[in-house]
Amino acid sequence: MHIRYIIGRAEEPQPPRVLASGKLSTAKGQDTTRRLYREACQRMDQPVSPELDAHLGTRDLRAWTYRLDTWAAPGDIGQALLEAAQVGRAMRRATAHGAVPPRNAWGCDRCPWSVHCENDASASDLGAWFGVVPGRPATEIRRKAGRGSYALRRDQPGAVVSPSEMRAWHTCERKWFLEYAQRLAPSEHRGFGPMVRGTVVHAGCQAGLEAERAGGMIGPAVHMGIADAIAEAADSFALNDDESRQAVLDLEGPAVDCSLRMIGEALVAEGSAGRMEVLEVEQRRIVRAPRSNTWITGQPDAIVRHPETGRLCVVEFKTSGSKDLERVAEGYRRNPAAHFYGALITAGQVPAEEKRR
Ligand code: SF4
Repeated sequence: MHIRYIIGRAEEPQPPRVLASGKLSTAKGQDTTRRLYREACQRMDQPVSPELDAHLGTRDLRAWTYRLDTWAAPGDIGQALLEAAQVGRAMRRATAHGAVPPRNAWGCDRCPWSVHCENDASASDLGAWFGVVPGRPATEIRRKAGRGSYALRRDQPGAVVSPSEMRAWHTCERKWFLEYAQRLAPSEHRGFGPMVRGTVVHAGCQAGLEAERAGGMIGPAVHMGIADAIAEAADSFALNDDESRQAVLDLEGPAVDCSLRMIGEALVAEGSAGRMEVLEVEQRRIVRAPRSNTWITGQPDAIVRHPETGRLCVVEFKTSGSKDLERVAEGYRRNPAAHFYGALITAGQVPAEEKRR
């Protein structure tokens, strides 16, 4: 299964620096683009530095958007399913008879639960924790059965797991217990941060691919749709300080540009003059782990098809603040989520319906 990670950085490129002498800086550390540099040279009637021009040309390939095409081999997919079954069983064992799974003190760096775990090591007083609020309820997922359907047991640990749930489990069983078995969330200061940035850009990518799937080319109307989706996603955060609210307003332009670049990368059909056909956008799928009572659920950002070979490809959008997106992308090469997406596409099914409980 072909997996395509697209990493984007939603930042406004800076214009090239002008030195006190009135000349354009040729420093290579500038966060600009080759196009802006060439335009500035032309506008200011200055010669283009071949060295900086070549450097920016190379830098542009990984500083704003980067595409990583990788594969989930059948063996990897099969093994991931077997491991998911084991994890499902381990989750049930860990919480049997009201047990609370252990902490993993090696996973605490940057974990939002650290204050709670330090002060209530046994999690015996969950209800009284200050600053803990109910998390997002699980979405009801119904499996088709004959002409009808039935709801999967989302209240039972290990019965339905997502790639992000498995990641939480492997990071720290206590973290998984708090967030997925107890459905709790730490109430943090709601400020502008990577999560807001990522959600906003995702909304733009989703809106653009939905329009492409519906047959609309990525023209001005789609640009407007992307901008609207981005504004709506930004609003949904209800950020609670002026600085964060301004940051999200400033993000809109770069987020639109970033989404458009990422959509463009998603539609690249290697070896063809055409572009990928968008089949699904954010469609949930489920697949049962073999010989187990564990279902895996996931929502790939998109599934696209090569116009000539017909080969399917899972597209995942990620955002990062790094200026070296190639390095960020390499970190996803061994991401086990890709193996689950492979299983969801090759052996999974679309649920009958779903609704948030
Ligand atoms: S939930 Fe786990 S990782 Fe997080 S602070 Fe507690 S022990 Fe550490």
